[in-house]
Amino acid sequence: MRIDLHTHSSVSDGTETPAELMHTARAAGLDVVALTDHDTTDGWAAAREARPAGLTVVPGMELSCRWNGGEGPPVSVHLLAYLFDPDSPALAVERGRLREERLSRGERIVAALAADGYPVQWEEIVEASAGGVVGRPHIARALVRAGVVESVDAAFATLLSPRSPYYASKADTDVRHGIALVRAAGGVPVFAHGLATKRGRVVGDDAVAAMTEAGLLGLEVDHPDHSDEERRHLRGLAEDLGLIVTGSSDYHGSNKTTGIGVCTTDPGQFEALLAAGTGVEPFRD
Ligand code: AMP
Ligand code: FE
Ligand code: FE
Ligand code: ZN
Repeated sequence: MRIDLHTHSSVSDGTETPAELMHTARAAGLDVVALTDHDTTDGWAAAREARPAGLTVVPGMELSCRWNGGEGPPVSVHLLAYLFDPDSPALAVERGRLREERLSRGERIVAALAADGYPVQWEEIVEASAGGVVGRPHIARALVRAGVVESVDAAFATLLSPRSPYYASKADTDVRHGIALVRAAGGVPVFAHGLATKRGRVVGDDAVAAMTEAGLLGLEVDHPDHSDEERRHLRGLAEDLGLIVTGSSDYHGSNKTTGIGVCTTDPGQFEALLAAGTGVEPFRD
């Protein structure tokens, strides 16, 4: 059993449509794939429709959250949510709010770039996102198209980095509130790439313990952005706190160099995740 529980389609900031992504997953030899676009369930129906025989699809989402508990400014945390009821009203309202935040924040970043003479246009970026959830990768691709930077990676390292004068943050969901919303919708909340220090500031063990008290059920341990040491630490933390351990690629198509299925989840842990989710059934034979 090969299980990858974190992928993005063009409904958010991946480059393959949900249907293409399902075929990529099967062609790569996966038995289970989760579709976890940022702040939306809009890809679920197409993924279900296109599901190749033999592939189990876990409907999910990656909710943009922040940890407000410590000293200093809030820390960005990504919350994976699986098998929640897509019609649960409070969660639907919150992910809608986050998509609006993404639009106003993206527009602010692009306006600041344009004011300094960078040849990027918000309308063009929204058009290129084809109705999907807009993120910094869409701005990065526009900067590549305009010849400002060589690659999406280079854009993230410079103009779009949190240290850039052009960076703008968005008002993400308080993570304990996000966890409560996911649980209320029958879903399984899992803390995504929690120790990926290469992405920026990360939270401490105390925050993970507080999130667990708030209803967190799992930790994403095996992730391309985690070092061996970071994985070891998270695995120990998951054991101490009684959390499900997952592994995933965080595949984004050609927006990132990561291949699908490069990190996977243990089948026993996947069974525990399935048992905990009550909002919607996985899509399978
Ligand atoms: P945003 O959600 O708009 O703040 O943008 C963050 C998204 O950009 C995350 O989903 C990451 O997966 C993606 N991302 C972060 N760094 C990179 C990178 N170097 N190349 C491509 N995508 C990235
Ligand atoms: Fe992303
Ligand atoms: Fe993420
Ligand atoms: Zn992701």
